[in-house]
Amino acid sequence: MTSAVPKQFLELAGKPILLHTVERVVSLKNVIQVVIALPARQISPARAMLRSQKWRVPVRCVGGGATRQESVHRGVSHAASQADVILVHDAVRPLCDSETMQRVLEAAWQTGGAVPGLPAAETIQRVSRRGRVLTTPPREQLFAIQTPQCFHAGILRSALERAHKAGFLGTDESSVVRWAGYPVAVVPGSPTNIKITHPFDLEVAELLVSGGTRRDALEDERSMIRIGQGIDYHRLVEGRKLILGGVDILFEKGLEGHSDADALSHAICDALLGAAALGDIGRHFPDSDPRHRDRPSLEFLREVRERVKKEGWSVLNVDATLLAQRPRLAPFMEAMRQNIADALGVLPAAVSIKATTTEGMNAEGHGEGISAQAVALLEKL
Ligand code: MG
Repeated sequence: MTSAVPKQFLELAGKPILLHTVERVVSLKNVIQVVIALPARQISPARAMLRSQKWRVPVRCVGGGATRQESVHRGVSHAASQADVILVHDAVRPLCDSETMQRVLEAAWQTGGAVPGLPAAETIQRVSRRGRVLTTPPREQLFAIQTPQCFHAGILRSALERAHKAGFLGTDESSVVRWAGYPVAVVPGSPTNIKITHPFDLEVAELLVSGGTRRDALEDERSMIRIGQGIDYHRLVEGRKLILGGVDILFEKGLEGHSDADALSHAICDALLGAAALGDIGRHFPDSDPRHRDRPSLEFLREVRERVKKEGWSVLNVDATLLAQRPRLAPFMEAMRQNIADALGVLPAAVSIKATTTEGMNAEGHGEGISAQAVALLEKL
């Protein structure tokens, strides 16, 4: 780049590239220390910049060398002696995702050394100094190698030491480790793990960062919808009214309970409370409270709506099923829907109520009681 500012100090999304890179590396859970090798004159500005944040692990800056390999060698000599594995990363690759880093770490743990690589997408030619094609290496063997490159600490230290003594200069750590006779595995890299080399790369990185932010925002929006489920049972007994969905249904028995025992309204209350993670109906309207004796359950529904609304939720829809052998409930469905919709402040189209017998099976089928099940969807705006 032509800019006077060193690349790692250029701003990406309002923050120096180096900070982005260090943040990503520190976010890996097994990292115990970060060592940054820099030209001597960049050390104090880098330290000042890094001090602006609180880091989970020690982050230190040390003087680099004349070549990449020498800088890595010096950085490695400052790495903690208890480190099992050393991960070498370019300061100007600020967008490496944690999955790629983890993949490289795991492969290095198995093999001794691993690097992320992308298969060459284009034909790569060996070209003469005069600009003539010489030979065409088989493309399936060609990979663009990225960082982080990861090695068992002993392997990397020994390879760098031997290369230093022998005067061998590799283009990256994998070539040095390979030169020293150790295997290096290649695992899938990431196309977004770009190296900021040209002004164009910085523009691409800006787009990738803002794209990521937009994706995060979309994720957030999606996460603002919650589903909840509710189930309620009541016994059928003589001498009680049968109230379902606030509708008084003429029948020889009614449901037993502290309130009006409207199982449908109770199941819907629980679905709404469940979607908002606010506990259950028993917690909000305990049986022990005499104020709730014989109370119409549609009032509970209205209060539940208020309570979820207070948490920022609005009701998208409710779907419920009543389980009863008798009486036939079909004629009362529309009235129930209307009552529930009114209590929840939604259109009847957002409320669905269905009924089924249990074919003579179970407690409902034997006429011992009636139960209801419901799901509700809430949205936080
Ligand atoms: Mg109940």
